[in-house]
Amino acid sequence: MAPMLRLYNTLTRQKAAFAPIDPSHVRMYACGPTVYDAAHIGNARPIIVFDLLFRLLRHLYGAAHVTYARNVTDVDDKINARAAERGITIRDLTDGTLAAFHDDIRALGVLMPEDVNVAGERPRFVEPRATDHIAEMIAIIEGLVAAGHAYVADGHVLFDVPSMPDYGGLSKRPLDEMEAGARVEVAPYKRSPLDFVLWKPSKPGEPSWPSPCGLPAPGRPGWHIECSAMSWKHLGKTFDIHAGGIDLIFPHHENEVAQSRCCFSTDVMANVWLHNGFLQVEGEKMSKSLGNFITIRDVLKDWPGEVARLAMLKTHYRQPIDWTVRGLEEAARTLERWYVIVGDSAASPVIPDGLLEPLTDDLNTASALAELHRLDDPAGLKAGANLMGLLTQTKSARDQGSIRAAGLDVLEVEALIEVRRAARAAKDWAASDRVRDALLAMGVTVKDGKDGTVWSVTP
Ligand code: AMP
Ligand code: ZN
Repeated sequence: MAPMLRLYNTLTRQKAAFAPIDPSHVRMYACGPTVYDAAHIGNARPIIVFDLLFRLLRHLYGAAHVTYARNVTDVDDKINARAAERGITIRDLTDGTLAAFHDDIRALGVLMPEDVNVAGERPRFVEPRATDHIAEMIAIIEGLVAAGHAYVADGHVLFDVPSMPDYGGLSKRPLDEMEAGARVEVAPYKRSPLDFVLWKPSKPGEPSWPSPCGLPAPGRPGWHIECSAMSWKHLGKTFDIHAGGIDLIFPHHENEVAQSRCCFSTDVMANVWLHNGFLQVEGEKMSKSLGNFITIRDVLKDWPGEVARLAMLKTHYRQPIDWTVRGLEEAARTLERWYVIVGDSAASPVIPDGLLEPLTDDLNTASALAELHRLDDPAGLKAGANLMGLLTQTKSARDQGSIRAAGLDVLEVEALIEVRRAARAAKDWAASDRVRDALLAMGVTVKDGKDGTVWSVTP
């Protein structure tokens, strides 16, 4: 029997056994990207980490029994400003950015809806967009006003924080601290400085929709309401797991909880809240001003996506991660070694003992990878790595991919490697060296080691 999944829950600040509300249908939500610009490598962290959790849940509960919703924020101030700057609609801007984001994360070995959804069945992976859920947002906003948890003021609809006695239960910040934070700039129409916007009027030229609560002027949603709307629509009023980066605990997740619980009169929005730690670059905070801001695209120019995925998974998801070239080089060497072991073998139908233990212990990927290092059975190694979204290609397919990516002719390179192999077998060292030099001139490095000959392509 598979070991019991244990997860660290931000809501309780404890690691506990995971028990789904409905064991035949595990439901998980992750806050996804705001699509106004190229995603950076920090944004890739929650995508990769929660992709791993999705894979693990599918393994433990069965692929047909897990639903994952990861939203796309396709309306917000930055999106509106960027679209206006370019003179295009927010839909055109966000469609383009989202398509590029999909290409990026596909390269990182992240499962996509088309990989897991089955025609005619309940969707297993949905990627809802905020602007497709305005009706659900309006229903929640009107429900909150009717229940006395929200009010209309100066063209806005605001959530009335003091109306919720246990507001703050997720972030566990003292009320006065939250108030002090909110006081920096308090809009005059707020009854309490903590109150937050559910709906606001649109300025001329901004995207707008007919407003709720009889407000005459068209408007647009506040930031938090979209996730209450999309998780409700796709997962229900309460669900199992809600995930995102640690920066989202307050105010975003706290406010999602307030909206959903007060609208639906529930004790929880989600039972388990998971938060990934932040990524920094070579020991420094990643920021545009420091010039160490790295997009996923930048990384993919220099490294195969699989190398980046492995580099990301070496650190436990709750710890801060230091993104370094050294870490990428190490990951590249590891994969090189594993591909030589696995070759073109098929994965074993069973996950090796010893791998599920760490993974089910709050996604202890560092120990899981150490376990993979101990495996030398090709079929077992492939099965274990596949569960983590690694070694998903055969060695031949990967080799051909890297030859092609370097602009070389696959047949020619493979033929030369074969000629060299035959020369070595015949102990014709001079011929073998000539071919090695010819390959080197093309950018293909061959090395002979105890596990046989390996080669790599320098792009
Ligand atoms: P955003 O597009 O800014 O809304 O962020 C999308 C996701 O990426 C959220 O879950 C953020 O918490 C997460 N995120 C943003 N920056 C980083 C970072 N440097 N390290 C880890 N996660 C991040
Ligand atoms: Zn969210």
